[in-house]
Amino acid sequence: MYDLLVVGAGPHGLSIASHAAAAGLGLRVLGRPMASWRDHMPAGMYVKSEP
Ligand SMILES: Cc1cc2nc3c(=O)[nH]c(=O)nc-3n(C[C@H](O)[C@H](O)[C@H](O)COP(=O)(O)OP(=O)(O)OC[C@H]3O[C@@H](n4cnc5c(N)ncnc54)[C@H](O)[C@@H]3O)c2cc1C
Repeated sequence: MYDLLVVGAGPHGLSIASHAAAAGLGLRVLGRPMASWRDHMPAGMYVKSEP
């Protein structure tokens, strides 16, 4: 039994999962990590985030 199920392993899902794990929650992430960026973004485009 999990405390949290995260559907989607994009930047937000992985971030939520990371914080939840750090808080000691038992969780499961469904999906391939960064699939939308691997499969659906133009070649050479990278996700940029403000510091
Ligand atoms: C062309 C383009 C350029 C962008 N550039 C930037 C940028 O430089 N910086 C920035 O901050 N943002 C950028 N964005 C916005 C970007 O989409 C988001 O910042 C980020 O990818 C959103 O993360 P997310 O985890 O919410 O969604 P997504 O990245 O879309 O991840 C969601 C994941 O969930 C998966 N999923 C969906 N349904 C299910 C299911 N039922 N079961 C399992 N998996 C599922 C999908 O396959 C996907 O992998 C850009 C967007 C586009 C379209």
